[in-house]
Amino acid sequence: AEPPPAQAVPQAGSPDLILLRRIGVVDPYSLDDYRAHNGYTALRRAFALGPAAVIREVTDAGLVGRGGAAFPTGRKWQATASQPDHPHYLVCNADESEPGTFKDRVLMEGDPYALIESMTIAAYAVGARHGYLYLRGEYPRALRTLEHAIGQARARGLLGDDILGQGFSFDIEIRRGAGAYICGEETALFNSIEGYRGEPRSKPPFPVEKGLFGKPTAENNVETLVNVLPILTMGAAAYAAIGTPKSTGPKLFCVSGAVARPGLYELPFGATLGDLLGLAGTPDNLRAILLGGAAGGFVRPDELDIPLTFEGTREAGTTLGSGVVLAIDDSVPLPRLLLRVAEFFRDESCGQCVPCRVGTVRQEEALHRIADRTGPAAASDIALLRDIGQAMRDASICGLGQTAWNAVESAIDRLGAYE
Ligand code: NAD
Ligand code: SF4
Repeated sequence: AEPPPAQAVPQAGSPDLILLRRIGVVDPYSLDDYRAHNGYTALRRAFALGPAAVIREVTDAGLVGRGGAAFPTGRKWQATASQPDHPHYLVCNADESEPGTFKDRVLMEGDPYALIESMTIAAYAVGARHGYLYLRGEYPRALRTLEHAIGQARARGLLGDDILGQGFSFDIEIRRGAGAYICGEETALFNSIEGYRGEPRSKPPFPVEKGLFGKPTAENNVETLVNVLPILTMGAAAYAAIGTPKSTGPKLFCVSGAVARPGLYELPFGATLGDLLGLAGTPDNLRAILLGGAAGGFVRPDELDIPLTFEGTREAGTTLGSGVVLAIDDSVPLPRLLLRVAEFFRDESCGQCVPCRVGTVRQEEALHRIADRTGPAAASDIALLRDIGQAMRDASICGLGQTAWNAVESAIDRLGAYE
């Protein structure tokens, strides 16, 4: 067995944590070690409860999606479970690609059985016998740990037919991405698994009704799934008491950039941005913080009292997204950084719809003109950027085009980036 990965994970392994407590402590290549660290108690409780009660627990716990969109997980599972069409599928979205996001990678590399156990519970709840784990292609270590863990779980009767002698059968197939950001969009991901180009489909119909292979599908992010374990072991009420009434439970934050201690942090929802940056250590010349990654937005250093909750960031006119907290000091030329964000979206647009295909190119061109100037930006280019941004937001098919102008807009409006 390979040794556990050495990662710069500031709090990993602390018994006070919920999601990261096994990271760096448990041997990711040992099923026995996972079991010795409370592994598979949640699945046993799920089998004792039955599928409907598992969905009730997840609903009562208030779990919402951690990929970034915060959709209620219990509602997604209930909607999938109740579809008359069969088969039902479970898809784990492990195509973690938002710039600055690395939380799912740490979970998969350090605690792979936790993901396998939680996928098994999710499949049991929604009535799926087959699960796909769509893994970011650039995560070879996660691939190794997961392939090994799935093989061990299968060999020990924890995947396959009649799991734990309970009459429930379920197995997991890994599919690797090939480097396209768009394949993390759930319907593009389904197309990719089916062997088509990774292009998003129009929604509705939502995947709960017509998802993978046109069948009812529950699609969940890695961190979302892993939260199901503490919900079942501690109970919905105890879990819901963590965080705030609207954002319950623990949350992982990916802290990077101009901080003394970058890495993955677990905090209960409701801690402020200042609390988190206090742990990570910020410099005196902090210029801005990017929340939510390239699809997110910038906030100023005088806004550190923003609560790190889905509702709190929304009220503050920004987003929590997938938990990216990227600190930027005043040595970073903002116009260059924004240009890099714009290049990213132009590069990653799948090109299927006009507002995004053309808009991301025009946005980059305008930012180039601005970055190449000396002195204040031309008002006409700022006005053009606003027009393009609004068109992308209103008329793009999927989240990529709809969010491609967020960071630039917030840099103009909140940071005065081009004044
Ligand atoms: P979305 O709001 O369209 O959907 C969120 C989820 O809820 C989806 O699974 C969708 O199928 C489901 N849903 C929504 N309405 C529904 C309904 N009425 N019935 C049943 N199901 C319903 O958001 P999205 O486009 O899937 O995701 C956008 C988010 O992804 C952004 O917040 C962004 O931050 C995040 N993101 C994350 C990464 C990453 O690497 N983690 C990368 C890019 C984007
Ligand atoms: Fe493709 Fe962009 Fe349209 Fe999404 S918004 S479907 S990425 S072209």
